Amino acid sequence: MRALTGIKPTAMPHIGNLLGMIEPALRLQDQHEAYYFIADYHALTTLHDRERMSQYTREVAATWLALGLDPRRTALFAQSDVPEVTELAWLLACVTGIGGLERAHAYKSAQADGRDINVATFLYPVLMAADILIYDSNLVPVGRDQKQHVEMARDMAAAFNSRFGEVFVLPEPLIRDDVATIPGLDGRKMSKSYANTIEVWLPQKALRKKLMGIVTDSKGVDDVKDPDTCNVFGLYKHFASPAQQAALAARYRAPGLGYGHAKQELFEVMDARFAPARERYDALMADGAEIEAVLLDGARRARTVASGVLTRARTAVGLGAAPRAPIL
Ligand code: AMP
Repeated sequence: MRALTGIKPTAMPHIGNLLGMIEPALRLQDQHEAYYFIADYHALTTLHDRERMSQYTREVAATWLALGLDPRRTALFAQSDVPEVTELAWLLACVTGIGGLERAHAYKSAQADGRDINVATFLYPVLMAADILIYDSNLVPVGRDQKQHVEMARDMAAAFNSRFGEVFVLPEPLIRDDVATIPGLDGRKMSKSYANTIEVWLPQKALRKKLMGIVTDSKGVDDVKDPDTCNVFGLYKHFASPAQQAALAARYRAPGLGYGHAKQELFEVMDARFAPARERYDALMADGAEIEAVLLDGARRARTVASGVLTRARTAVGLGAAPRAPIL
């Protein structure tokens, strides 16, 4: 079984990325052959800044490595280092109706926000389908927000197969129910577009400051509170042990706990969780050579698989197995 997932280098990864996708994906590397990529072509739909693109690409790579991605087993690479994926996106676009793309979440939310939408944003699900199908992926670990796009990839694969023969493996999304959608500082889905994110590698002081900004109701220290509807507790439960969770929940339900205290408890569990990996992250970022070597090797392995699948697709539609013209 093969696992595949990607993350856009449009900012430093946040806790939603970490819990919703990175950690579940890291657990898969023990039983599966895994291909994890940095979705720079996708990032380009919104990020038009050379320096930030390369900075965020390094940050995403360093995040995977600091959190335990083993590059000897798992291929970690930049999406654009396997340009075959854009050719496959074209082949898929030729079997994809406009109606389905108009219903895609990313496009609809860009439209609802009144953003100026480029053609690439509209085609996002087609490129994402190519990302998945070009590695014969079986499993795609993602947060719930991406479920629809993985289903669209499956539909495109089925449409292509029924027209041209069995070319693609049909992928399945893998979504952990307990971390399907991580709330941000204001309780809405944690997302760069809502500016409510908590970045994974914030220095201690900045992390504490961010957490102190989590939105709560206005109950005072001596009011009894409900942990189940509180944004602070909603995050705490992902980092605390069951005993810690029970203890803090009991304090919520009795007088004497202010939200500031709860935020301090959250800071402590988060800081304890990230401190060791933060050292590794800082070391990787300080010397880019290791990241470069990992990405280069990952791209080489990914490209071998991708060119085989692309050849299958080209042959199935009646194009040559490889472009005829020599590369100049
Ligand atoms: P993106 O930053 O859009 O490239 O997302 C990378 C991965 O993180 C995708 O699999 C998303 O489903 C996941 N993700 C992003 N935000 C959240 C969130 N708030 N809760 C759970 N998963 C998320």
